[in-house]
Amino acid sequence: MPQFIQESTGPNRALFLDRDGVINAEINYLHQPEQVHFVSGIFALCRSAQAASYKLIVVTNQAGIARGYYTEEDFHALTRWMEAAFAREGVQLDRTYFCPHHPEQGVGAYRRECPDRKPNPGMLLHAARDFSLDLTRSIFIGDRCTDMAAGQAAGVGTLLLLEGVERGDCAGGRNYRRIPTLDAALPLL
Ligand SMILES: [Mg+2]
Repeated sequence: MPQFIQESTGPNRALFLDRDGVINAEINYLHQPEQVHFVSGIFALCRSAQAASYKLIVVTNQAGIARGYYTEEDFHALTRWMEAAFAREGVQLDRTYFCPHHPEQGVGAYRRECPDRKPNPGMLLHAARDFSLDLTRSIFIGDRCTDMAAGQAAGVGTLLLLEGVERGDCAGGRNYRRIPTLDAALPLL
């Protein structure tokens, strides 16, 4: 852990974005461009964050790969399509991290516990190392309690729960705040 503590004080900060439900409207096991409907405000938010020198990092569980509903190559193709869509809006996504595993429903080698699968913080910690991030000065927007738990475990300073999916409070404290829309995150950058 000393290594992580050192990394967490890096010079950069990130805006972490969950994908399904934050970047695009939630559709179960989405894997094709024609299924993508971007969430209102996502491009403006990313442009503002980019202008404020945030790294833009996507962190997404992809149990559909574990379940065999689509392949890693399908996922990468969709990611490239999304990156191009953002680029047309003046936004460069810095990286997308994904976890293709599921502890119970995974097929073959995809069936396993994984430190990257949210609510575990692995993807955030990988990003902190890869981009020399100060996580305490970073922001994570998700739409599920598992996002908030991952962010809290990683030590992300600002945790924002986009309202819609989670009706009640998330277990494990109130170390996050709710936002009704992505626009509500703009003043927090
Ligand atoms: Mg989500």
